[in-house]
Formats: sequence, structure tokens, C-alpha cells
Amino acid sequence: MKQYFAYILPLAMLAACSQAGLDADDHGHSHRQAELADHSHSHDNKIISSAHAQDDAPKGVIGTESLGGGFYMLTGPGGNIGVSTGDDGVFVIDDKFARNGDEIIKVIKTLSNEPIRYVVNTHYHGDHSGGNSKMKTTGATIVAHENVRARMGIDFENKLFGRTVKAVPEGQWPTLTFSENTTFYMNGQTVHVIYTPNAHTDGDSIVYFKEANILHMGDNFFNGLFPYVDVDSGGSLQGMIASHQTALDLIDDETQIIPGHGPMATKTDLKMTQNMLIDVQSRVKKRLEAGESLEQITAGKPISDYAQFSSFIDEDTMVKIAYISLAKAK
Ligand SMILES: [Zn+2]
Ligand SMILES: [Zn+2]
Repeated sequence: MKQYFAYILPLAMLAACSQAGLDADDHGHSHRQAELADHSHSHDNKIISSAHAQDDAPKGVIGTESLGGGFYMLTGPGGNIGVSTGDDGVFVIDDKFARNGDEIIKVIKTLSNEPIRYVVNTHYHGDHSGGNSKMKTTGATIVAHENVRARMGIDFENKLFGRTVKAVPEGQWPTLTFSENTTFYMNGQTVHVIYTPNAHTDGDSIVYFKEANILHMGDNFFNGLFPYVDVDSGGSLQGMIASHQTALDLIDDETQIIPGHGPMATKTDLKMTQNMLIDVQSRVKKRLEAGESLEQITAGKPISDYAQFSSFIDEDTMVKIAYISLAKAK
């Protein structure tokens, strides 16, 4: 879990840590608020215009975990990357922050001599799609749900964190979109890309390699952690729970699950997180229906026994996410 907090260290801090010769992991825990800002605003100007800071970023921050059969998870800053290698080329899921683009390509070259053919963005957040421009320079096609491309092109208010999220340049947008589901046939795999409506955002997909029995959940799954639900981008707790069900219906006890954040997981881990979220939702719902305000519900500390799930989303923010999701559905 400690590693997780380092995954989304804000750029400025990462650069600062690097300049001080310190490993980001040593500092992960102390920056929760700032990390949150980075995750929710991975597109904002501060990040996008900080290309100059790229030189200051630590070198070699991406780790590689083999899943067997030519599959890998790439860890490090931002969301977990899934990689499928084989004779038909490389298939990639998500590409972290813009500053990680060069290293992602370098690491993938050590895994396969074949070109990168496709990069699927599980959603629009910049810790999963920031590397798009760089990946395009290899000739890769960037694929995502149509709402991902739409979100990248607009400024909007992230009310949950009181920030304006800026559009990103067109060079980062996906060039091939779909409206429901799509399937790739590559490297001997049937690769189902399944749209999960109004979950972490309004453009999330999960990606299932049928023959290999490997599932990438994107940010619909924060393994063992309270999830960030981007309620200002069409996300909802209900949708996130539903996306877990879509996944659970698809997989078995042998499935290897790559979460958006956190370590590799199994069906049991996913079920545990889903159960926690269902319980959180029902506790907040009960109080909401009894006429309590968000302030009253929060003050009642209704989910304090789930403190071990606290991430950059703390208990109060988790309650707020559940409240907003339920209030919107009323
Ligand atoms: Zn993420
Ligand atoms: Zn996200």
C-alpha cells in the first residue's frame, strides 16, 4: 500500500524529491492531499505545461511484473499499465502521465521487438492517458470509449475538489472510439473491451483477455482502497459497483486482475471491495433517507470501521462520494 501513494505523487513534488536525491516512496505518505489534486486534475495546465520539469523527473520509475504468457503489468507513477506481447504486435492498456511516455516505450521495447499497435485508455484521466502523444509517435492507434475523447476536449469544474480541469491538446486524444463494446483479435487472444457506464467516470472500459483470463479494471477498481469516483465527470458509486458485477460475472477464481491502482488482485479481492462499497452505500443511503444532511452524515462517522481502506480518498470523502451519487439518483 505504501507504494501506491507514490504512484500519483504530483509532478512538482516528484521533481523536488528527485532533486533532493530522495526516493519518492520515502515521501508518499505525507502528500495525500496533493496526490489527490494530481489524480483529479491530471489534465490541468500545471501538469500539461510542466514539460520543462520532465528532465527533473526520476529516471527508471516504472516496474515490470510478468503475468506469464507474454503479459505484463507495468507499475510506478499513475495507473497500472497492462501489456500483451506476441507475433501480432504489442497491445497496451493505459499509459500513465505524459512525463512517463519515453520510459514506457523503452520498457516495452525490452519486452517485445514487435511494434506497439494499440493503446486502449480505460478512461480520460491523465494518469492513464497522459502518455498518448508519445505512444502515437510509435505508430500506435489510441482507442477509447467516445466519452473519453469528448472529456479530453472540454474544460469543466471538478466540484468535489474545487478545481477547474482543463482540456488537453488534441494530440493526446484517442483516434479511434467506440460507443458500447469492442473486441480485438490479437496474439491468439479475444480481447473484450467492455464499456461500464457511469462508473469511475462516464467513459470507463474494462479489458478482458479471454484465453489468458486476465482482466484490466482501470480505475473502476482501486484494490483494497476507497476509490476515487469522479462524480463531476459522470461517475457514480452505483455505476462502480455495477462495473464490479460486470467483471465478477465474467471471471473465475483463476483470473488475474490488474486494478487501476494497487497490487495485482483476484476475484476474491474484487468481491471484497465490492462488498465494502455496497455496505458504504447502504449506510449512507439509510441516513440520507432519514433526512440527514451531508454534514450530519459525515459527523456521524458512519464508515469508520473501514478506515483500513483509506487512501487519498479518506473516510469523509468516501461518504461524500456516496452521498453525491445517491442524491443525484433520487
Ligand atoms: Zn488513476
Ligand atoms: Zn482515474
